[in-house]
Amino acid sequence: MRLLSLEIDGFKSFAHKTVIKFQPGMTGIIGPNGSGKSNIIEAIRWVMGEQSAKTLRGGKMVDVIFNGSKDHHPLNRALVKITLDNSDHYLQSDFSEITVTRKLYRNGDSEYLINDRQVRLKDVVDLFMDSGIGRESFSIISQGRVAAVFNGQPSDRRQIIETVAGVAKYKANKQTAQKRLADTTDNLNRVNDIIADLK
Ligand code: ATP
Repeated sequence: MRLLSLEIDGFKSFAHKTVIKFQPGMTGIIGPNGSGKSNIIEAIRWVMGEQSAKTLRGGKMVDVIFNGSKDHHPLNRALVKITLDNSDHYLQSDFSEITVTRKLYRNGDSEYLINDRQVRLKDVVDLFMDSGIGRESFSIISQGRVAAVFNGQPSDRRQIIETVAGVAKYKANKQTAQKRLADTTDNLNRVNDIIADLK
């Protein structure tokens, strides 16, 4: 699996549609301070389902929409589209090329698309979960995160190891199943009460 390209349109400092093609051998992005290098990384994080505005250095999620500059009016929509070569089917999908698109409008509406088909946020998160590149992964390490990992509690470090080892997905599934089981038990108890009343 390889990152092929990134389209950024109306996200943070990218007022105009910008397409970055990641050619083989490309290892870095350089530019003057404040030119948008971190915004590119945040665009990748965002399109993969990031839900924390704080992680994206904002107060609320709509802050990621281009909010104007001296020669450009603010925009009403942010769009980021990532294209991945999945010919080795590293991501669990039949497609050998996968595009994931995320859009956010100023009124708070958002859209997620996988290969131009509308999907839920969960589908995007599931696609990347276990791949090592998802929103919770460690393939993107922000400034300050390294120190936070080393200075964190052992339980936090354990969570990190579980995520890296791919255990986190099963824990999440287990929690969902346990909740469903508890709900079903409640329902059964209610049915039993009704049956007892009818006797
Ligand atoms: P450095 O090298 O200093 O870390 P950088 O190249 O990583 O800088 P970024 O932090 O990616 O730069 O970009 C910062 C710029 O993005 C700032 O000029 C900021 O005003 C602009 N910016 C951030 N959010 C928005 C937004 N919603 N609308 C318009 N511009 C924005």
